[in-house]
Amino acid sequence: MLTTALHFSHTLLKEIVQVGDTVVDATMGNGHDTALLAELVGRTGQVYAFDVQEQAVQATKHRLHELHLLGQTTLLQQGHETLGQVIPDTTDIRAAVFNLGYLPKSDKHIITKPDTTKKALEALLPRLRPKGRIILVVYYGHEGGADELSLVNDYCQQLPQEAYNVLTYQFINQRNQPPILFCIEKKP
Ligand code: SAH
Repeated sequence: MLTTALHFSHTLLKEIVQVGDTVVDATMGNGHDTALLAELVGRTGQVYAFDVQEQAVQATKHRLHELHLLGQTTLLQQGHETLGQVIPDTTDIRAAVFNLGYLPKSDKHIITKPDTTKKALEALLPRLRPKGRIILVVYYGHEGGADELSLVNDYCQQLPQEAYNVLTYQFINQRNQPPILFCIEKKP
């Protein structure tokens, strides 16, 4: 069966992330992706995870603690647009994942935004390893969502094909605006 964008994002991460890697969860939310990444990089790896909401950081911390995965994670209650100040520019990043939108069952006004998403992407690209991937799962049904989708689409489309492969994955016959996945892969 064809899988959801969310499920496919996990497949794309599992294919490349290895023990000892440094990776980024740009939007912690409830910490599902942070936990997956922490498992994949193991105790010798490092996951940098960002979210602006305390609720998200607490939920993620709790989840990781239960799974004994806290040791290999750095949880930051700050926007992913600060990534360039947190992660040294000499660090090689294997993968990064974004879930864009608002935190389900929480304040729908706290949403990711085009300019900060762009800033995070700009800090990530030079740190991304050859064959490394940035995955964006874009929810866009809410107010402000269309602008963000448009930014991500335009940003991805202008990346030079000599340096990057860019993919979109989307169900085009479903109701209720299911998320659209983008994957940027750095060429070797
Ligand atoms: N809609 C998705 C989840 C999106 S969660 C789903 O249904 O699964 C998006 C998260 O991004 C929220 O937890 C929100 O607090 C967080 N966020 C908003 N702005 C951010 C920023 N600048 N940096 C990092 N996280 C941010």
